[in-house]
Amino acid sequence: MDTRQVIIVGSGAAGLTAAIYAARANLHPLLFEGRQPGGQLTITTEVENYPGFEDAIMGPDLMKRMHAQAVRFGTEIVSAEVESVNLRVKPFEVVAHGVRYTAQTVIVATGAEAKLLGLKSEGQLMGHGVSACATCDGYFFKNQRVAVVGGGDTAMEEANFLTKFADDVKVVHRRDELRASKIMQDRAKANPKISFIWDSEVEEVLGSDKGKVTGIRLLNLKSGKKSNHDLEGLFIGIGHKPNTKLFEGQLELTSTGYIRTFTGTRTSVPGVFAAGDVQDSVYRQAVTAAGSGCMAALDAERYLEELKHPIHTLPSAVALGSEDSRSQ
Ligand code: NAP
Repeated sequence: MDTRQVIIVGSGAAGLTAAIYAARANLHPLLFEGRQPGGQLTITTEVENYPGFEDAIMGPDLMKRMHAQAVRFGTEIVSAEVESVNLRVKPFEVVAHGVRYTAQTVIVATGAEAKLLGLKSEGQLMGHGVSACATCDGYFFKNQRVAVVGGGDTAMEEANFLTKFADDVKVVHRRDELRASKIMQDRAKANPKISFIWDSEVEEVLGSDKGKVTGIRLLNLKSGKKSNHDLEGLFIGIGHKPNTKLFEGQLELTSTGYIRTFTGTRTSVPGVFAAGDVQDSVYRQAVTAAGSGCMAALDAERYLEELKHPIHTLPSAVALGSEDSRSQ
């Protein structure tokens, strides 16, 4: 199999935007969709803050459009999860479905996934009342009682969304102060179906013996008191962890496990670039992921130019950015 100029791993906003730019630059990118084609936006409902859609767009529709746009310019998309990579050799190696692909550059856009509490009962009841995605599973809790764990924007968003279905939504937070932005806090606090249980953690999800969630046992971290609450659903909204397992030991990671990037999207391995949530622990928005996908494709393109013309030294991405008119 021929060595590709660019392989992109991941098909969220970052991966598909990288594909659109790389394809338009005639780099004939090969993109691996991974386990969740379209990424995290495929499990959201309305996206109200992606520029260009004044009346909002559904997350899955936005991703369908990005996918079509990437294909239109010649991106080759493989519906497979990458099993391993070898970034210690040149060309780089990527293995998917047992097939070995090689590339001069790799753009990592593997995103992030929901964190879980790590309780045995949580694992046993996952999909049977425990969920990490209100937009995916909220519908199943019509007129029921649910709890959401977490105090950030994700938890507030999930709690608000769940009130469309559930009658009673309890937010369980381990401190007495929310981490969420003021607007999200205000919205949740003003919602009559939402109540808050402070300074508490879920000690156990009840119902394993019945095969479905029947309640939760909470531990108050200040008083040490335990309490049981009857309910039918538990949503975990405690944040996300970057999907970097494939790259451990090969790319430099931050202390929180994100891929470390330098000057734009460059990683610790020349020729490997990272974009989107896998390298962004701060902004984590669809539009910032798309923006960094664009940057990664431009960085890869410049790297490939450098390989062809090694005497020409490129001072910095910023200096070159001003010369780039193709992307206008
Ligand atoms: P986050 O801001 O890191 O909040 C995670 C929350 O979960 C925190 O309140 C944390 O408690 C709690 N938590 C973490 N681990 C826990 C555990 N093991 N047990 C119990 N509680 C635990 O994550 P996020 O809410 O996913 O937000 C991430 C980023 O995405 C933020 O920048 C956010 O603004 C953004 N975001 C924006 C929107 C929006 O604008 N629509 C929606 C979702 C997310 P502590 O507070 O005690 O640490």
